[in-house]
Amino acid sequence: MATNRTFTMIKPDATEKNYIGGILKMINDAGFRIVSMKYTKLTKEQAGAFYEVHKERPFYGELVDYMSSGPIVAAILEKDNAVADFRTLIGATDPTKAAEGTIRKIYAESIAANAVHGSDSDENAAIEGNFFFSALERF
Ligand code: ATP
Ligand code: MG
Repeated sequence: MATNRTFTMIKPDATEKNYIGGILKMINDAGFRIVSMKYTKLTKEQAGAFYEVHKERPFYGELVDYMSSGPIVAAILEKDNAVADFRTLIGATDPTKAAEGTIRKIYAESIAANAVHGSDSDENAAIEGNFFFSALERF
């Protein structure tokens, strides 16, 4: 499978604080091309389905409530080595552990409200992109 696409969301804490422009600038400046993008809001059911892999984790209910609490930006991004390079750009899940200059270090407020999502594998990037975008929208 190709290794040049990943999927991201700008999460409700970041859209609420008007960080969309700053985060998209960091993404573009790091060399990612925006393939597909939409501004939308997840229902609880949709957020639950998206994060199904975490349903046994203790924070699942909190995560679903939070991810359906406000608008998000969903996007498919393209760059060589996209999945790994994007995880480097966003930094650690917990912003107190994220490296200087990463999106989460700059914009995240907590381990739960951590500003952005980034796919963790090529396989999940494809699954997550397909969750939000039809084939016609993934040009
Ligand atoms: P993401 O999948 O959103 O890119 P991640 O891969 O860095 O984040 P995961 O382990 O996949 O981290 O967790 C998914 C999301 O669940 C996190 O981004 C965060 O919003 C939330 N989360 C993770 N751990 C915790 C926790 N201990 N307490 C509360 N929320 C958490
Ligand atoms: Mg993850």
